[in-house]
Amino acid sequence: MDKTTNSISNIRVRFAPSPTGYLHIGNARTALFNYLFAQKTKGFLILRIEDTDRERSSGEYEQSIIEDLKWIGIQWDEGPDTDGHFGPYRQTERIEIYKEFAENLLKEKKAYYCYCTKEEIEERNKQSSIEKKAGYDNNCRTLTEQQAGKYIKEGRKPVLRLIVPEKTLVVYDLVRGKVEFNTSLINDFVIMKSDGIPTYHFAVVIDDLLMEISHVIRGEDHLSNTPKHILIYEALGKQTPQFAHMSMTLGSDRSRLSKRHGATSVRAYKEEGYLPEAFFNYISLLGWATGDDKEIFSREELINEFSIEKCSKVNAIFDPKKLLWLNGIYIRKEKPLKIFQASMPFIKQAGILDDVLKQSQETIEKIITLQQERIKTLKDVPALIEFFVKEEIEYKKEDIEKFSEGTIKNMLKNLLNELTNIEFKHEILEDSVRKFCEQNNLKTSDIFHPLRVAVTGRIKGPGLFEAMEVIGKEKVLKRIENFLSY
Ligand code: GLU
Repeated sequence: MDKTTNSISNIRVRFAPSPTGYLHIGNARTALFNYLFAQKTKGFLILRIEDTDRERSSGEYEQSIIEDLKWIGIQWDEGPDTDGHFGPYRQTERIEIYKEFAENLLKEKKAYYCYCTKEEIEERNKQSSIEKKAGYDNNCRTLTEQQAGKYIKEGRKPVLRLIVPEKTLVVYDLVRGKVEFNTSLINDFVIMKSDGIPTYHFAVVIDDLLMEISHVIRGEDHLSNTPKHILIYEALGKQTPQFAHMSMTLGSDRSRLSKRHGATSVRAYKEEGYLPEAFFNYISLLGWATGDDKEIFSREELINEFSIEKCSKVNAIFDPKKLLWLNGIYIRKEKPLKIFQASMPFIKQAGILDDVLKQSQETIEKIITLQQERIKTLKDVPALIEFFVKEEIEYKKEDIEKFSEGTIKNMLKNLLNELTNIEFKHEILEDSVRKFCEQNNLKTSDIFHPLRVAVTGRIKGPGLFEAMEVIGKEKVLKRIENFLSY
């Protein structure tokens, strides 16, 4: 997309993963919707790394998330790995910024230091009969200077809490419509922890504000955090961005998508040999639809047709079978050479790279074309092309036994002589083998089956004569001889 510095769009969205694990399908969907919205509106997508949970965050996870987003084909305009005027884009590099905002709130008496220990709060909650304040009883809101001084002397490190006024907050969520929150159930919550690190709520608001985010598009699991975020915006005297909370992605039993439902990370699907284009298309269907039954969309179509209004309030169900089906569709319409190139990691893994590299590009393309409809994921490719490229193939014991009966063996031997003298074009091959059957009073299956086993080492596969043509005369004859020698 052409985005000059004086772009007219002021739409800015962000995807803000916490690097505490591999990119999850549900999060990839959220990233995709942000991407599609930005592309559609000629706006900007920001990638922000929310790594304030230092124990669980890691640089490796951050790297893997970036790689996986790129694999899907989601590009951002600003992020930790690109330039941008609103950086840094990693929260741990922004700690001083949060501190400054926190100090201002403290000065303006919109926040206060709280010295209570976890144990003290728990103990008071136990004693308290006011259930709604369970969590925190706003104890330090009215702390005297003297009391505070005493705690400081004791060496207590305070957290900073935001004063929560009692009121009703109203949000017009672009997916959910009007949502009201009553703050009576929200205690004065922590915005800065005792180690000087902001909480998620505080960092997310400061960043969205400073990065001039116009639309916060995220999962519905964050809807319950939204009142806290609005309270922070209000304390800062700032306007909130627009919110759009996307439905969740669930497993087949409607529980939260987890390992129980199979692979949940994008990486696992990449490693299983899914095509990124198919994955891109599939996750776009998780909570969004055009209203008709259309399910197959190119990237451009998705950008054109995407709108937040068409996002569903109903949770989506992740269906791995459908993803596999869609992957098959993309594989079948892909160019053979592209499939081959994308399969390279699997070919290497299977240890057949040397044999593959001995083939011409034309041969490889022919092989893939012959097998294309059988490829469900790229991981299937090595096993499907192996017998074409390998010098020697192995036979299953049962196949050798089945076809080593005297007459079949003799017939194959005679056929071998015939094959020696003909040109290896599939039409010619088929013609001669059929004629051979006729002349010898054989059913075609009597010869086709053992011939297929001798040439390919398996009982099923692509068109026998097309395969023979691609494998080539020399290798085919050698294989039949070899088979007969058992
Ligand atoms: N870092 C949060 C998460 O990974 C996202 C925060 C947000 O989108 O507001 O769930």
